[in-house]
Amino acid sequence: MSAVAVLIDHDRGLPSGGALEALTAARALAADLGASLEAVVLGDGRLFETHGDDLRAACAAHGAAAVHCGRHPLLADYGPDAWGAALAHFVGAAAPAAVVAAGTDRGAEAMAQLAARTDLPLVANCVSVSVATVPWEITRIQWGGSLLEDVTLTSALPLLTIAQHSVEAEPVDGGAADIQVAVFEPDLGAEAQRTLVRDRVTLTEGITLSTSPVVVSGGRGVGSAEGFAPLEELAELLGGRVGCSRAVTNNGWRSHADQVGQTGTRIAPEIYIACGISGAIQHWVGAMGSKNILAINIDPEANMVTKAGYAVIADLHKVVPAISDEIRRRRDRQPA
Ligand SMILES: Cc1cc2nc3c(=O)[nH]c(=O)nc-3n(C[C@H](O)[C@H](O)[C@H](O)COP(=O)(O)OP(=O)(O)OC[C@H]3O[C@@H](n4cnc5c(N)ncnc54)[C@H](O)[C@@H]3O)c2cc1C
Repeated sequence: MSAVAVLIDHDRGLPSGGALEALTAARALAADLGASLEAVVLGDGRLFETHGDDLRAACAAHGAAAVHCGRHPLLADYGPDAWGAALAHFVGAAAPAAVVAAGTDRGAEAMAQLAARTDLPLVANCVSVSVATVPWEITRIQWGGSLLEDVTLTSALPLLTIAQHSVEAEPVDGGAADIQVAVFEPDLGAEAQRTLVRDRVTLTEGITLSTSPVVVSGGRGVGSAEGFAPLEELAELLGGRVGCSRAVTNNGWRSHADQVGQTGTRIAPEIYIACGISGAIQHWVGAMGSKNILAINIDPEANMVTKAGYAVIADLHKVVPAISDEIRRRRDRQPA
């Protein structure tokens, strides 16, 4: 039986949310093709010793019938050349029907490496794939999320990345308790060492902007770097993180690491509280994955207001502290 292979993009053994979304999307593709769903995980012996069981369990829970573990000392940490070469080795040996990865930085980079090495076309950031016809019909996101493009794909081996947050990662009932495990040892030459992780500096501890369930963002309407203090307070009360628009980073009020949008971070929180942000398209593409949006703005016609599920038309400098006060008041009233 042919297989749809999904590259599991992981960080030192922790699969990305995008990888589980890609497994979920590829499950439907495998069903349509009558193929099995199989995962590909890359690492060294130590990584598989410490994280192998968890990685296999995550793959099984998301419907994979088999996991192919590519093992090599150069795969101890992420390296685009090493991952690309290992994937090319896998494709040559296993001859899958299609290869899918998450549209994350790593997924996209590793798949671009694979495409270059195999001289095959890669369709990036897919949101839907129909295999009912030949060529396949695919819709993908372009221009930072502001354009949906319909394309056709003719390829001996389709290579796809799945746009982040275009599907929700959904576990299957039961999952394959008896998931098959196959180990392959790619032959990685010196060229696989061209780019390897040597060191890391963690800029953000704990929940990041892209994974936070609550994001309280401020735009030009906040007025100054100091004006973010009430937003910090509200984010802390809600267990969330503070984000911002590019007008804010351009003004030097906050660092680029906090910027939401096309040239910032794409977020998908349970709730996005956008304070004094107009909702320009370049900001919106980073925020549109939010499950709920509350816009606080003095302009009822602002894009962010018209797109939000909830809006307060008022001065954010009054509304944000008032929300924090009300949260504290209600918490104080609760029995210990
Ligand atoms: C190539 C490119 C990439 C870009 N990438 C990004 C990106 O990644 N992220 C991003 O954010 N932008 C990006 N931009 C910039 C984007 O086009 C907008 O200029 C920017 O998002 C505007 O930021 P803003 O909403 O904070 O400011 P503005 O558009 O000036 O909006 C300020 C809002 O605050 C409201 N307001 C003012 N005072 C108050 C108050 N007291 N209380 C409540 N509301 C108030 C106003 O009504 C207004 O709606 C990009 C632009 C380009 C060209």
